[in-house]
Amino acid sequence: MLDRLAGERFDVLVVGGGITGAGAALDAASRGLRVALVEARDLASGTSSRSSKLIHGGLRYLEQLDFKLVYEALRERDLLVSKLAPHLVKPVSFLYPLQKKVVERPYVGAGLALYDAMEGTRRPVPHHRHLTARGALKRAPALSPSRLAGGMLYYDAQVDDARYTLTVARTAAAHGAVIATWASAVGLLRAPGGGPVTGARVRDEETGRSFEVSAAAVVVCAGVWTDLVHELAGVQAGYTVRMSKGVHIVVPRAAVDADTGMILRTDKSVLFFIPWGEHWIVGTTDTDFTGDPAEPVATEEDIEYILAAANRVLARPLTRGDVIAVYAGLRPLVDPNAGNGSKPTTKLSREHVVDVPVPGLASIAGGKFTTYRLMARDVIDAVVPAIGREVPGSVTDQVPLLGADGLAAVQPAAGRLAEDYGVTREAVDHLLGRYGTLATEVLDLIRANPELARPLAEGHTYLRAEVAYAATHEAALHLEDVLMRRTRLFMESTDSGAEAVAEVSAIMSRLLGWSRRRRAAETRRYLDLVQAGQPVLAIDPGPVSDRALAG
Ligand SMILES: Cc1cc2nc3c(=O)[nH]c(=O)nc-3n(C[C@H](O)[C@H](O)[C@H](O)COP(=O)(O)OP(=O)(O)OC[C@H]3O[C@@H](n4cnc5c(N)ncnc54)[C@H](O)[C@@H]3O)c2cc1C
Repeated sequence: MLDRLAGERFDVLVVGGGITGAGAALDAASRGLRVALVEARDLASGTSSRSSKLIHGGLRYLEQLDFKLVYEALRERDLLVSKLAPHLVKPVSFLYPLQKKVVERPYVGAGLALYDAMEGTRRPVPHHRHLTARGALKRAPALSPSRLAGGMLYYDAQVDDARYTLTVARTAAAHGAVIATWASAVGLLRAPGGGPVTGARVRDEETGRSFEVSAAAVVVCAGVWTDLVHELAGVQAGYTVRMSKGVHIVVPRAAVDADTGMILRTDKSVLFFIPWGEHWIVGTTDTDFTGDPAEPVATEEDIEYILAAANRVLARPLTRGDVIAVYAGLRPLVDPNAGNGSKPTTKLSREHVVDVPVPGLASIAGGKFTTYRLMARDVIDAVVPAIGREVPGSVTDQVPLLGADGLAAVQPAAGRLAEDYGVTREAVDHLLGRYGTLATEVLDLIRANPELARPLAEGHTYLRAEVAYAATHEAALHLEDVLMRRTRLFMESTDSGAEAVAEVSAIMSRLLGWSRRRRAAETRRYLDLVQAGQPVLAIDPGPVSDRALAG
């Protein structure tokens, strides 16, 4: 990929491999353009692995009268669930516990009726329903009966955000895009006399080597690093990005007895209980952040806020002892009143903005994970004039992601696959839910080496074969790529995945040819990362520090 980056001329170079950049690469590649993407660290290592992992219209945006955003997001949700990525985006129900029967039910009921009505006619997720207090308690015995006047049940969808981003990037690569990770854009190339942008200077973070990438247009999808990239390019964009920190805690499933997700109203926003395998993800917060974008830190105050908000409705309160992991992410919000800091971040719109500060350069910020496909379309549309030839419109609404094609025929064959490959039915179901029809590629690794069928860590469903697959097919270059994003052991285990380090590094060493020294360095690096995250300090020291950009 790096050789191709340095040697070929591209129509579009995308800077940033979060969901927006991966989406832009797929949008451009599927329009027949020559595309390259550079990501300073790993795919989804920024905000796109730290979200609430919901593909949703956003009920609370209705209250803010942001109808366009909700309408578009619901259409996108349904497209992803039914056609583009049914293996990755799955419907999930949410219970809204009512505490004041007379006032609240008609208000929330009207909101949910509107939410459902905006969805259109195809309806891959069911309609909302009214529940009595008894009905709500049946679904969620964890709720305190004394404060419960009834409930509403509605549906949205959820996703493993990091896996989804990776799958979009792999789909772009399947359509010809060159995707390079651990490669930073460190400067933009301009035609003489401050003319149009003609590419970027890129540094391979693995070796320190830098080289020029030539492209008719550069698209900046750098999330909370957008302002830094603009500075680096010496351009003044029409907006600035305001960072809003969101923290989630992870607790065991057994700590909250409910068979549905839940949404609670808080003073400032909403709080979700999101079912996540054997865990609940509970969050989030929404506070201004002004530190280093690479190192959002979850504070004690954030955790206390989440626990207090959750405990307002629970019969058995959650305590710090229930919290097995914490993660923090930064929303890249567009602030039209940049500098004045007038509005709290909860009130800033989640709509996206595209800007073309100089010919040949477009940048995008804002938006939501759910609407990434529309963001990608808009930012690629913005650079079409720079490409200098006719470019067809976006077709990504017709391009299923890798693993989606033929899913309907593979799911019923799960039992047969289990027999053929000599693994459990549970293992096949697990793989189908993460790789779709590409699960057979992981199973082929097991056929070649049955040792890889063993679980990676006790109490988790991941298989050793998934580590091998991450190294051979999913561009994982470091332990953290596998433990934080290809699998989610970092946020799903009390020891942040430390127990699996030896096994993961043994498998990666064999496939990537790591020396004993490199293996020791990788292990140290990951354990340092884990250490730094204990118990509520910096979660993840990211790659694109000011230093990296300045270099
Ligand atoms: C707490 C929280 C909860 C959220 N929950 C939801 C939700 O449930 N549903 C929803 O729809 N949305 C949600 N969002 C919003 C959503 O997660 C973000 O809008 C989205 O992930 C942003 O993606 P991005 O690609 O724009 O940014 P990022 O994912 O941050 O990607 C930017 C990338 O650019 C790279 N980069 C930066 N500079 C350079 C450079 N010079 N060279 C190369 N690469 C560079 C970075 O390394 C990074 O990987 C949530 C956000 C937060 C913070």
